[in-house]
Amino acid sequence: MAIENIRQFYDEMSKAEKRVADFMIEHPEETLDLSIAELAKKSETSDATVIRMCRHIGYSGFAQMKLGLAGSLAAELKRPVSGYLIGIDVGGTNTKLMIMNEQQEVIAKRQIATRGEEGYETAGDAMIQAIDFMFTEAGIEEPNVLAVAMGLPGTVDKEKNQTVWLSKLHWDGFNPAEKIGAYYNAPSFIDNDANINALGEYAFGSNGKNDNMVLITLGTGVGCGVIINGKIYGGASNMAAELGHMIVDAYDGDICLCGRRGHLEAYCSGSALKRDAVFMMGTCPDTVLHEYMKEAGGVFENQMVTRGAMAGDQVCLRLLDRYIHYLAVGVTNVMMMYNPSIIVIGGGLSNAGELLLKPLNEKTKEMVAQERSWCPVVQATLGSEAGMYGACTLAGQSIGL
Ligand SMILES: [Zn+2]
Repeated sequence: MAIENIRQFYDEMSKAEKRVADFMIEHPEETLDLSIAELAKKSETSDATVIRMCRHIGYSGFAQMKLGLAGSLAAELKRPVSGYLIGIDVGGTNTKLMIMNEQQEVIAKRQIATRGEEGYETAGDAMIQAIDFMFTEAGIEEPNVLAVAMGLPGTVDKEKNQTVWLSKLHWDGFNPAEKIGAYYNAPSFIDNDANINALGEYAFGSNGKNDNMVLITLGTGVGCGVIINGKIYGGASNMAAELGHMIVDAYDGDICLCGRRGHLEAYCSGSALKRDAVFMMGTCPDTVLHEYMKEAGGVFENQMVTRGAMAGDQVCLRLLDRYIHYLAVGVTNVMMMYNPSIIVIGGGLSNAGELLLKPLNEKTKEMVAQERSWCPVVQATLGSEAGMYGACTLAGQSIGL
């Protein structure tokens, strides 16, 4: 291979030969298109020096050297990927696993049951087994894992790199990614799932890479993750961006899932919407919600409210209007606080699309103090895969990729 040969024999070369060699190393692709005379001119030497240099590094002539040089370039392009990132998104029920290469391209993804009730050791072993299987399936033997990162449902102490409290799982006070990291001889990192989801939407969502963005997830509760300058913003003790518990009604407000009054989650969580819908159904026998619930076997689902609103049902329109009003208050506060260039809305209720986003954009525009503070509010694009993309991103960021 020409470039390796140049490096091997460089010290023995004359000054003139070194000028030819330097030009080739700096401009290998251009050299392939040059004649002997052109290369001599570019390196300020003679045709004879170019030929001497080719012989010096083991080729019979200029043409043979060019073949060797082309081989060097091809080998460079085909050089195998040297390492992998593992991203794991642990939920109460399911765990999603993803492998990316060093270039942050997805190699494999898989979902398994979390099996949290069987204890951490069993769950950790199941994850390792699944990852090993993914590597084998991708034809990768003895993978060089660079880092492992895990998103977890609950409170995580980033400084100690261990959990504080997790919902549904009794994995408190240690680093649940460490076992997997140790198995692959790689460092392991953890963060809470809201932060990880935001990082995933930031790095891989199709709303563009906005270095300052906020993801708000409207599920059973209200989740939030803030990205500042391309990194998760955790605050002093990784408790920043608890948007669900932002006070939006300071006087005798509704009761939040945390037990206190007036928090955003008391108005904009799936649980709050259900509570309000059930109350309205009790007083309004005409609403279509009765019919929808009968169809669903007596089970209430939040999307029934958006479906009813689209059908023009007055109760559903009022419920959605109240929901969006409080959400706009929360979203406006986020704009005033962090000045993001975009706010992304995820979670089940974001599936309402424009029915939710259009009034939300209009109301927030009216509520912000100045137009400069406002930014577009859009729908998330990765759905439930955001966590594993985010975990891979965190793994990469944590080792400086
Ligand atoms: Zn609360």
